[in-house]
Amino acid sequence: MDLVNGYLPSGTEIQYYAICHTKLWLFAHYIRMEDNSDDVIIGRIIHEDSYKREQKEIIIHDKIALDFVKKGDTLVIHEVKKEYNLVDVHRLQLMYYLWYFHHILEIWPVEGIINYPTHKTQEKVMLNDQDEMLIPEIILKIEKIVHQSSVPIPKKIRPCSKCAYFEFCWV
Ligand code: SF4
Repeated sequence: MDLVNGYLPSGTEIQYYAICHTKLWLFAHYIRMEDNSDDVIIGRIIHEDSYKREQKEIIIHDKIALDFVKKGDTLVIHEVKKEYNLVDVHRLQLMYYLWYFHHILEIWPVEGIINYPTHKTQEKVMLNDQDEMLIPEIILKIEKIVHQSSVPIPKKIRPCSKCAYFEFCWV
């Protein structure tokens, strides 16, 4: 697609862009740290135990990993998340998935739901005209960051304490 130079990030890269550009760059360069934090383990348990009856983990083009989908009048794609305080990050990821369905897969209309089982709540995500323009801009920014020759300088932020790269950045 001309609009984004053919470059398409993964959903994880979209999330990391919204959280921390250092984390995005490290992840995109296959620099991974062993992550055994309680937080990650709890997240996995929630993910595995929630919505057992639903079909799970639909991987598309190795870019998108949907936790499950439901097909009624409209296709609805679902994400299952733990941390409600990252709702803006999760919303952006799902907006990207909706954009991907619309422009790359050419499947439309599609709606998104973020499920927070521990909070017993859901967030509905739709894609409006403004979002349609925002997502290609973000894709281009992500491409620029991951193609930088050196890692962006870390900045201490609240998610650092739970980040797999904490020791890389701060120890
Ligand atoms: S520890 Fe903080 S600065 Fe380093 S990658 Fe993680 S979130 Fe970014």
